[in-house]
Amino acid sequence: MARNIGAACRRCRRENLKLYLKGDRCYSDKCSFERRAFGPGQHGQARFKKLSDYAIQLREKQKVKSMYGMLEGQFRLSFHKADAQKGVTGENLLIMIERRLDNTIFRAGFASSRKQARQFVRHNHIQINGKKVNIPSFLVSPGDVITVKEKSRANGTINENLEAVVRRGIPSWLELEKDNYKATVKALPNREELTLPIQERLIVELYSK
Ligand code: SF4
Repeated sequence: MARNIGAACRRCRRENLKLYLKGDRCYSDKCSFERRAFGPGQHGQARFKKLSDYAIQLREKQKVKSMYGMLEGQFRLSFHKADAQKGVTGENLLIMIERRLDNTIFRAGFASSRKQARQFVRHNHIQINGKKVNIPSFLVSPGDVITVKEKSRANGTINENLEAVVRRGIPSWLELEKDNYKATVKALPNREELTLPIQERLIVELYSK
């Protein structure tokens, strides 16, 4: 499975925003963005130059891709699917990527980052409606019940993550039963709950050129 193996903290500094890509470290004082809140590389501390419209759109797309740990091909495919749906393309896109299984596992608190969630899914720790699903891009739907496989419930990392989930909170479209290692998808994700600053309009403009 192809994945982006570039340095995670560098991506936060590049986007001038905490993207929370490294789990617990992101909430600690070890966070590189907290310590060095300027761009990466030799010219990182130079003053930000004025960006063209294209560069602004490109950065917005790169930011969201990094946030969700997606590669260009997957992201573009999601855009085309969102564009083919009824409604506002940008919102459709965000809701679609929010429904990805790796993101759902992260949001529900089983994993401390989307990257870790992807690993749990690939390593067969997760079931949906009682059946094994090991595809991180699988889209969950209202009514789906996501559980940690019986044998994986002793996994120390999953248990630690569930203990720490209070810090992040669970979005209203998910219901977590911590003791049963179970999360239920109550509804489709809601655009208003995606609190990170994303201007999806810019991504639509970029792909519509
Ligand atoms: Fe970003 Fe997390 Fe690294 Fe901080 S620790 S720079 S939030 S990936």
